[in-house]
Amino acid sequence: MMSDAVSFKLLSSLTDFAVRIDADDVIRHALESSQVFLELPANPIGESVKFLIQPEDMETFLKAKNQASLTGEKQTFVCRLLRQHVLPVWVDCHIFPLEDQNEHFLVAFDASHWKENEAKLFHLSTHDHLTGLPSRVLLDDRLTVGINTAQREQKGLVLLLLNLDGFRKVNDSLGHTTGDMLIKALVERLKTVIRSSDTLARIGGDEFAMIMMGSSQLKDAEFLARKIMATVQRPFQIENHNLYISASLGVATYPEHGDNTSTLLGRAEMAMHSAKALGKSHWKIYNQQIDGNAKDELSLEADMHEGIRNGEFLLHYQPIFCVKTGKLKGAEALMRWDRPGKGLISPGKFIPLAESSGLIEMLGAWALRIACRQAKLWQEAGIPDFYVSVNASPRQFMQEGFPELIDKAISESGLPPSSLMLEITEGVLMNNPERSNALLVKLRASGVKIAIDDFGTGYSSLAYLKKFPLSVLKIDKSFINDVVKHTEDMAIVSAVLSLAEGLGLTVVAEGVEHQEQLDFLKSKGCNLVQGYLTGKPMHVDVFQEKFLS
Ligand code: C2E
Ligand code: CA
Ligand code: CA
Repeated sequence: MMSDAVSFKLLSSLTDFAVRIDADDVIRHALESSQVFLELPANPIGESVKFLIQPEDMETFLKAKNQASLTGEKQTFVCRLLRQHVLPVWVDCHIFPLEDQNEHFLVAFDASHWKENEAKLFHLSTHDHLTGLPSRVLLDDRLTVGINTAQREQKGLVLLLLNLDGFRKVNDSLGHTTGDMLIKALVERLKTVIRSSDTLARIGGDEFAMIMMGSSQLKDAEFLARKIMATVQRPFQIENHNLYISASLGVATYPEHGDNTSTLLGRAEMAMHSAKALGKSHWKIYNQQIDGNAKDELSLEADMHEGIRNGEFLLHYQPIFCVKTGKLKGAEALMRWDRPGKGLISPGKFIPLAESSGLIEMLGAWALRIACRQAKLWQEAGIPDFYVSVNASPRQFMQEGFPELIDKAISESGLPPSSLMLEITEGVLMNNPERSNALLVKLRASGVKIAIDDFGTGYSSLAYLKKFPLSVLKIDKSFINDVVKHTEDMAIVSAVLSLAEGLGLTVVAEGVEHQEQLDFLKSKGCNLVQGYLTGKPMHVDVFQEKFLS
């Protein structure tokens, strides 16, 4: 088919005749590179070049030809040439204007290998290596095509984003090979849910996207979300493991939620984050409220940055008393945001966002420093064994260099380490018990005390109480609320108190609002109490005036 000899042929311009010109550089290039020139249909000379060029490439050809006429200079371009009985071939073309600039001289070199490589490269850059699925780049493309098709056919489409819950845990505990196998198995299952005309793409390690063509009806989107959820939740048998996973899904539809690629992707993503925020295994279809929340969050986050710069954050202190003697023992430092024009904002509003945005690391470090300094001042002012309790968020606890941060706060303030209590929730410890234990041992070695906050609301695994080096249990307010009314709560609180006594742990009852609650706790030997009854969280000056003057 293709001759070995280097050759070139003159093709006529659209005016159909062969021309001789001095196209030196092209001829030299042809000779030097010994490129194989493609075999053209018999006797191409005299045939209109129009019949040699793949119709889709005609525009490229005409553009180059016109440009050559206009500038009087050689133009190069790539196109497909038609051949007899075989597939078209990619060629690298050089087109020269002749003296009469309406006529042209065209030389074409075989570029099929180069094109093949390009196609391979394109595939690699647009597909996920592990699963062979389209990657993020291609998803955008497919979505654009999908929207155009839907528009033309006056139909809809559903875009669904899927994010696996806790996939990192699988990788961390069982290794990446198992993680990869799980992803592959999951992809095989997902493929059975979609039709061949639909798109399934892997757009991140644990994130997938699906485009379903044909409908945008809510009931179809819901049906699909449910089906996918069920598919993901069936156990996976990977090597010797029975693995259970779940996913959070976000859905947006064309044309209801957006008529272009970026809006649709953005809204499906918002819906997915909103589903994720509900915990595991939820799906959400985009609605305007989600958008509003996301915008509010964005502006709140920006305000928070500004608030930190402007020193709008402060600590309130809630007193903690000894039940038996009624003496003040310490205080919990609770963060507040004094936002101009909005008043004091409670941590319930901004801590979750600070946590998800990472700002908590900065805010938490600041709270630690300030609280240690304040406790030291109050010790000097007359309560020598005063302790301060500071909340450590999950992210802070896991943050690199957390023990060093604590050491710094202590040494800078001069507060004895045993006067600092760190409050950590059960969930944080149980997320990674080995690492938590190592960290707690390190912290305890420096003299700092550890309290389990909101005890009873998390894992409620009693085994870990023995395992971890803890000092204090803070019984959650929800058990104290009805402790004198509900026998169940009474039994739980009594059990926790005797358990703690057996383990040598101090118990703080949180959220004590009524005298009867306090009386009950006293009768059961509870050590410390914190609640509105004995004192609300208060400004540092109020605290000082009340307890230290
Ligand atoms: P928490 O650690 O459980 O703090 C106790 C919460 O219970 C405080 O809410 C406190 O005002 C409230 N409280 C105390 N006694 C009573 C009572 O008798 N009745 C009622 N109804 N409530 C009572 P606050 O200050 O709104 O803080 C909420 C949560 O925000 C805290 O819960 C804690 O998880 C978080 N937080 C506060 N400050 C910080 C901080 O500096 N760092 C971190 N990471 N989290 C913080
Ligand atoms: Ca707390
Ligand atoms: Ca608490």
